[in-house]
Amino acid sequence: MSVPQAIRELADMFDRLPGVGPRAALRYAYWLATQPKTTVKQFADKLSQLAAKIVACQVCGMWTETSPCSICADPRRDDGQLCIVANSQDIRVLEDASVFQGKYHVLGGLLDPIEGRTPDTLQINNLLNKLKDPNSKIREVVLALDPDVSGDTTSMYLMRQLAGLPISISRLARGIPTGAQIEYADEATITDAYLNRRRTKD
Ligand SMILES: [Zn+2]
Repeated sequence: MSVPQAIRELADMFDRLPGVGPRAALRYAYWLATQPKTTVKQFADKLSQLAAKIVACQVCGMWTETSPCSICADPRRDDGQLCIVANSQDIRVLEDASVFQGKYHVLGGLLDPIEGRTPDTLQINNLLNKLKDPNSKIREVVLALDPDVSGDTTSMYLMRQLAGLPISISRLARGIPTGAQIEYADEATITDAYLNRRRTKD
């Protein structure tokens, strides 16, 4: 093999990143190998800081440096509205649009039975516990899930689970193109989708 083992092993790590294939992974590894040692050390430091500092918020599940996160701890946010998202990065898009003033719940992914992502692999049980808690103030759930097959499957599953609860449910409108990901929506699109959300259960 003409590729040094250290570079190959690093490339194998880059290969795990979303959207990075083996060729790009190898290019990143070679690029780092040719950088000054201080640059490589900065990368290594940032990676270990990530592991040391980032935790899941114990309330909403968002990746954060403090738990509860700043949103869950903010008394100005409406405890009556709970927005369900697949991933932490979806929250950033909604927050940038400043359209939603309630709180969030992160599922940690979307249902996809073929890929083995069943309800027990997501943060669904603790969501149901949160909603069924007699002290819960939540009166509206907003489903902000990707408008694709997994997002729709998850939305339908959650709507069935919440059917008996005295909570209204709405879903983001289709301002977001089918097959798109919320994470990549611009502020105007996400604002439009939120404001035109459809009530699916009163
Ligand atoms: Zn939180």
